[in-house]
Amino acid sequence: MECIFCKIINKEIPSEIVFEDEKFIAFNDINPKAPVHILIVPKKHIPSVDHIEMEDKTLIGELILVAQKIAREKNLAGYKLLINVGEKGGQLINHLHLHLLSGKSHLKSLNI
Ligand code: 5GP
Ligand code: ZN
Repeated sequence: MECIFCKIINKEIPSEIVFEDEKFIAFNDINPKAPVHILIVPKKHIPSVDHIEMEDKTLIGELILVAQKIAREKNLAGYKLLINVGEKGGQLINHLHLHLLSGKSHLKSLNI
């Protein structure tokens, strides 16, 4: 298994986990682009938004609800949710993930 995020899910690579349940893991981005930069990752290996199928629609809704839950727990005043899709869309890791960004500097560089 070459996927870095699957290795994080399987605890083969350490990460700063901020949330975990049976379907999702969320952890701090190793190279934060904002004061708060959390990656929310479905444990199911879906390579990108371009690979989502109808059977995944509940999971994708729940992905956003996990972001909302983390934002509420951290009392974030406001935040951005970002998904890069494909190499030309700025996606570096081919395992679907939602970026949760908050804090002033998130306006600077989002790799888009
Ligand atoms: P993408 O460009 O694919 O949307 O975002 C991938 C993100 O994963 C980048 O912001 C990058 O900093 C982060 N990242 C890459 N490798 C690791 C890692 O091993 N651990 C953590 N915590 N984040 C990573
Ligand atoms: Zn994976």
